[in-house]
Amino acid sequence: MPHYDLIVIGSGPAGQRAAIQGAKSNLRVALVERREVIGGACINTGTIPSKTLREAVLHFSGYNYQNIYGVSYRVKEKITMSDLSFRVQHVIKTEVDVTQAQLSRNGIDVMSGVASFKDPHTMQITGIRGTTEITGDIIVIATGTKPAGSAKVPINARTIINSDQILDMPEVPKTLIVVGGGVIGVEYTCMFATLGVRVTLIEKRPRLLEFADQEIVEALSYHLRDHRVTMRLNEEVHSVEETPERTVVAHLESKKRVTGDALLYAVGRQGNVDELNLPAAGLEADSRGRIQVDEHYRTKQPHIYAAGDVIGFPSLASVSMEQGRLAVAFAMGKNVTSNPAYFPFGIYTIPEISFIGKTEEQLTDEDAPYEVGVAYYREIARGQIRGDTTGRLKLIFHRETLEILGVHIIGEGASELLHIGQAVLILKGKVDYFVNTVFNYPTLAECYKAAAFNGLNKLTR
Ligand SMILES: Cc1cc2nc3c(=O)[nH]c(=O)nc-3n(C[C@H](O)[C@H](O)[C@H](O)COP(=O)(O)OP(=O)(O)OC[C@H]3O[C@@H](n4cnc5c(N)ncnc54)[C@H](O)[C@@H]3O)c2cc1C
Repeated sequence: MPHYDLIVIGSGPAGQRAAIQGAKSNLRVALVERREVIGGACINTGTIPSKTLREAVLHFSGYNYQNIYGVSYRVKEKITMSDLSFRVQHVIKTEVDVTQAQLSRNGIDVMSGVASFKDPHTMQITGIRGTTEITGDIIVIATGTKPAGSAKVPINARTIINSDQILDMPEVPKTLIVVGGGVIGVEYTCMFATLGVRVTLIEKRPRLLEFADQEIVEALSYHLRDHRVTMRLNEEVHSVEETPERTVVAHLESKKRVTGDALLYAVGRQGNVDELNLPAAGLEADSRGRIQVDEHYRTKQPHIYAAGDVIGFPSLASVSMEQGRLAVAFAMGKNVTSNPAYFPFGIYTIPEISFIGKTEEQLTDEDAPYEVGVAYYREIARGQIRGDTTGRLKLIFHRETLEILGVHIIGEGASELLHIGQAVLILKGKVDYFVNTVFNYPTLAECYKAAAFNGLNKLTR
């Protein structure tokens, strides 16, 4: 039976980085993937397809130029699903190739099949060519998640779909119901609204994206309403049905009735643990399929680690990569540090949102003395040149020490722009750093300087 120093289960971002970290440390590494293609939900159904779809939507709809040339500006009048998916397929293929090359360059044995535990050190791999067994000293579970289902919502992959099935829609619907006001639901709401689809967004909580700064979410909500999105907050779905005419009706607990050409169900995700036979390794998962780990990503079995979406929040590709790398580094006793407080968030709504550190609500709860400086893209030359007049950047800093506590951005390029603030925050920089620094002109980065002036002026009032 082949023996490996490290077995990684799953080839998404967490699994890839775990395997590469092992190979770079001269371990003999096996990576097991049950799909025909590697890359996980990240490359095949989640991050990469959705972000490429967004880029295609922005391009064809002419959205970025409508503030300059008028709202009727379009690159293409009748946008079809094949217009949108063409670019997606190209990017997926390239990303799979790049990842495959990376794994083989690092000498990692990629095995195709479903991995399940036979005992704490032995994995059974069942593929199209039969079953094999391998043993490992260290095992990393990086099996990710799948869209959660609900008995109330009969997914039919045609008119009632989950986020894995978006690209299989035969045509762009005229009206769409989105259930779920989390990141995935809101991102797709924005994309379809930008295409001119009338979207109704249903969320059972009183606000969208509840972990983000309230002021930023309010700015997004204003923008969504401006794009004819109907938001039904504090509303829960009672049942969903497809009519004989192949439209969809969602019945809400409040007795409201919402109709659409299609419905996207985007409420939560479930860990991929069913096939792992966790009890054979002395492990278990919770009701949402999440595996519990300590701060070193170690399960209750000292040689078995878990990383990525299968361990729960924040369930981002960016963080999953880091968790995979760290899990193997910790397993090898390397001296590495990780501070989840510094994980950035990128939410690819239209306009984009990105943030790091504390929100105003968290600081208020903690009774922390803070001040806020805000800059608006419309006051910055680059904002005008780009035609993004809705963006804003918000710096939160400590009133006494002036240390940066949080950075929150909504607007074009937010997810790139954030990393300037991230560096200053992590290096314990103060708000006056931005005042004393010269930024290229004209850039959106100048927002940092304008926000710093705005915030510091408030201290002297
Ligand atoms: C629509 C959508 C949009 C997203 N957008 C973003 C974004 O913009 N930015 C961001 O950072 N994150 C985003 N995410 C989240 C991101 O995709 C995930 O955080 C990331 O893919 C998690 O990586 P992972 O390695 O944990 O799992 P996955 O990428 O899910 O990979 C897990 C792999 O394990 C395999 N597997 C499962 N069980 C077994 C088994 N028993 N044997 C063998 N193989 C197995 C699966 O087939 C899969 O290939 C998005 C997700 C979705 C759904």
